[in-house]
Amino acid sequence: MDKLNVDHMLAIEEPFMKVPLEQLKRAVRQTQKQAERETAAVSSELSNVLKNQHRLTPGELQQTLDGLISRLQTLRQALEESKLEEAQLIQRSKQRAADLHKLRGFESTAQPEFQQWCRTRLDRVLIDYMLRNANVKTAQRLVDKGGLGHFAESSLFALVMEIEGELKEQHSCRAALQWCAENRSALRKIQNSLEFELRVQEFIEMIRARNTPGAIGYAKKHLTPWSDTQMPRIQRAMTLLAFSPATQCPPYKSMFDEARWGGLANDFRLVIFQLYNLPAQPLLHLLLQTGLSALKTPACLSEDPSEHNRNCPVCQTETLGKLAQELPLSHHVNSNLVCRITGEKMNEDNPPMRLPNGYVYSQASLSDMAVKLDGKVKCPRSSQTFKLAEATKLFIS
Ligand SMILES: [Zn+2]
Repeated sequence: MDKLNVDHMLAIEEPFMKVPLEQLKRAVRQTQKQAERETAAVSSELSNVLKNQHRLTPGELQQTLDGLISRLQTLRQALEESKLEEAQLIQRSKQRAADLHKLRGFESTAQPEFQQWCRTRLDRVLIDYMLRNANVKTAQRLVDKGGLGHFAESSLFALVMEIEGELKEQHSCRAALQWCAENRSALRKIQNSLEFELRVQEFIEMIRARNTPGAIGYAKKHLTPWSDTQMPRIQRAMTLLAFSPATQCPPYKSMFDEARWGGLANDFRLVIFQLYNLPAQPLLHLLLQTGLSALKTPACLSEDPSEHNRNCPVCQTETLGKLAQELPLSHHVNSNLVCRITGEKMNEDNPPMRLPNGYVYSQASLSDMAVKLDGKVKCPRSSQTFKLAEATKLFIS
């Protein structure tokens, strides 16, 4: 049991490697685009200057050339900064790959080095959980304590929180729309319509502010480009012009609902996670679910609490059981008999005992009870009382 299944472990660690690689891909693409755009603009202006040089005064020529030089200098500075960012991302990917590579060197789960690796993993999984829940300071303390800066997605979550904050608290689409513009081709590739939803929200806000001409102009400019895929939504949005924010008419009432801002923040979070290959659920949940799925049995699903096992985390319906709700039942090759009273395993040292009413408990639990109840035992499920001597021993075959 103490042998490592490295392939299974690596499968769950996929986002750990993919996030910095995705960041690197985006950074390289962005730099490349910027360089192409700037050099094309400079060379076209330069050819204009060469064409019209006889019409320019030496002063004008000097001014234009100075402008071009300063533009190229700005580009050079931006390229140097990007180079630095790319180097950091490459370094980060290398450090993560080296950490995962350690797994191949462990021979058993009992090895102290493996235990240490697991502790570090737990820390980074907790950091991920805290960053997702906006506990930034606590996450940072854990990052600092373990020197885990290269293992945490702090900058990505800072961006997520900044844009979510603008949506939820300031009711502004500005930052989210800018992000959509920067990632337009990636969003188009996954056929995501977040940008359209944000445009609809800005349109709704103009109607709320009773700016009808502004809203119509906005719709022509920003909603009609989506007519191929979003026509029914555009029609509904246009119909909204006829309603006031106080309307009770169902589909239009919900369009004026302020809760839409929370929905937009949520949509944004899901799509940015998708683009960066981060799972929608915290990694902590995924790891816990891996363990819970091995423990889930039909008894865990029973509506009768007495059927539940007090030592089984899946049976804790208010806590870990919630995470196991969607999981399939585990496949058991060997079954263990577990006492409902103590939650302990029943075996030849602690055999199962059958009460006259048919219910079975462990010998240890019935003996303990008999000491307290003057030689008697009380069935927790039927509340019937019997003498301990009436219980018969069962044999496991
Ligand atoms: Zn259970």
